[in-house]
Amino acid sequence: MIGMPKLFTFSFSFFTYNNIMMKINEQYMLNALVLASQGYLATAPNPMVGAIIVKDKKVIGSGYHQSFGHNHAEVNAIEDCIAQGHSPADATMFVTLEPCCHFGKTPPCTDAIIKAKIKKVFVATIDNSSKVDGKGIQKLREHNIEVEVGLCQKQAQQLNAGFFKLNDTGKPLVILKWAQSLDAKLAWPIESANRWLTNQTARQHVHELRAKSGAIIVGIGTVLADNPMLNIRNTEYRNKILRAVIDSELQIPMDCQLVQTAKDWPFIIYTCETAIKAHSEKVQMLKDLNCQLVAIEKLNDHLSLEEILIDLGKRNVLQLIVEGGPTTLAAFYHANLADELMVYVAPIIIGSRGLALNFDFPTTATDIQTTDLATNTLYEIPLAL
Ligand SMILES: [Zn+2]
Repeated sequence: MIGMPKLFTFSFSFFTYNNIMMKINEQYMLNALVLASQGYLATAPNPMVGAIIVKDKKVIGSGYHQSFGHNHAEVNAIEDCIAQGHSPADATMFVTLEPCCHFGKTPPCTDAIIKAKIKKVFVATIDNSSKVDGKGIQKLREHNIEVEVGLCQKQAQQLNAGFFKLNDTGKPLVILKWAQSLDAKLAWPIESANRWLTNQTARQHVHELRAKSGAIIVGIGTVLADNPMLNIRNTEYRNKILRAVIDSELQIPMDCQLVQTAKDWPFIIYTCETAIKAHSEKVQMLKDLNCQLVAIEKLNDHLSLEEILIDLGKRNVLQLIVEGGPTTLAAFYHANLADELMVYVAPIIIGSRGLALNFDFPTTATDIQTTDLATNTLYEIPLAL
């Protein structure tokens, strides 16, 4: 299950429902959600969507949105249905998100559903983007198609949490991610010969997490200490992620890996107007190497994290991973800007000289999911904002 969306961790407790039909319909929608999740590496900034077409109690077609710019799930399901020699006329469609009704990169899915003469559509949740927002459902109803909204709504919203948050707030979903020892240390002491905390399985999981995120951000302290690349290894989508650093004084070394690889992988330096003016020569050299510099307002000597999130939102980033170090993690946490914590725990004890996390776990989180990663464990902790 490495890297797959959290959908898979839902249990099938839905079978406890008494109503048989309800259970069957829910199962179709859950299957559509599983299908949707297969697009997790390639649909952003579009949401993941799946669709299943059922007639006479048989699935006659299915599809999902496979990658940005290509067919939406509904069209793929209708095409699959026809390719299998079935007619979608009078069938029921289960779709995990409200069908679109506008011309984007592809024609409206509502038109395809109307043309296919689908009789009834179960929609898991409304698409809250301004272009749709109920208008897709309205259009289907205007064409006498029965529409039921809300089947597996919670799961559907969780699957595309970043998409819904960006539409609602203009900001991406923010995940604070770190690796730690059992005694909550984020790194070995500088003099230690040890480097990694986590095992190979956990590190690969991080790359999958990066691959399904739109951006990754660290503080300048992490760049100065670790000189990270923040890229994605072992997946074909390694060019997709936007890398960013928070660097109010423009301390970033010209020879660091982030700067030196900016021509291959996008890299943003969030700094302030004063630093840009004070380092005009360095700014030009950074720009020549394809680094993007963005001036952010300073509040109490720190860059406004809120403004950084809004800038990333404008770049259509659905999900941001904050990878540290402790100062940056704590800054997002204390500003109440984090939606979720992802903590990779290794079965080691580093001792008092290790680098410590400088904020406490929330004491009220109960809905914590765990994933075994060989000898390591990932804890996913949603934060109630
Ligand atoms: Zn569509």
